[in-house]
Amino acid sequence: MERLIFATGNENKMKEIRMILADCGYEIMSMKEAGIDVDIVEDGKTFEENAIIKAEAISKIAGCLVLADDSGLEVDYLDKAPGIYSARFMGEDTSYKIKNQAIIDKLAGVPDEKRTARFVCAIAAAFPDGRTFTRRGTIEGIIGYEERGENGFGYDPIFFLPERGKTTAELSPEEKNEISHRGNALRLIREVINEGSNH
Ligand code: IMP
Repeated sequence: MERLIFATGNENKMKEIRMILADCGYEIMSMKEAGIDVDIVEDGKTFEENAIIKAEAISKIAGCLVLADDSGLEVDYLDKAPGIYSARFMGEDTSYKIKNQAIIDKLAGVPDEKRTARFVCAIAAAFPDGRTFTRRGTIEGIIGYEERGENGFGYDPIFFLPERGKTTAELSPEEKNEISHRGNALRLIREVINEGSNH
């Protein structure tokens, strides 16, 4: 079976990826499993550019199909910040308790209809013959007034889904995968992989 490498060191992401891409006909490997350990500078200006930079760099090294993702939170009231800087917002080592409270504070007095936000995930698929495709998944919500929920990670405790009355930190991992930006992007990229040989 041909190999497919997903360019991440995050085991939670690998679990999700293995579930969604289970029947795609490739042996799915993490970077670690593929024995690849490189640090790639993500200096793109969009989620897609960053995903392409990672996927193409690893594909050149590994010589096989490589998927890479880039994701983040866009808050409309903050001109879509923190966006591609979501992990680096207020410093990589700053806790999400502090980052989340800072976003809540920036939105003090802002009514629900202006608290709209979304998680974005772009996934790039770089084929060894040089073709690269990207797909984007999103999930829409609003920024809450306080942290809620213990599941998930990052900005999940302040990302509120009005139609469910819950933050994404209050969803089970399975519930989140069904509707998340990453789940949606993975399902779209699965189609690209399935059609890959025909492009
Ligand atoms: P990366 O694409 O894994 O580097 O994620 C970038 C950053 O976006 C993360 O460090 C989080 O701050 C944020 N982020 C991405 N996806 C999620 C999510 O599902 N929940 C909460 N935060 C997220």
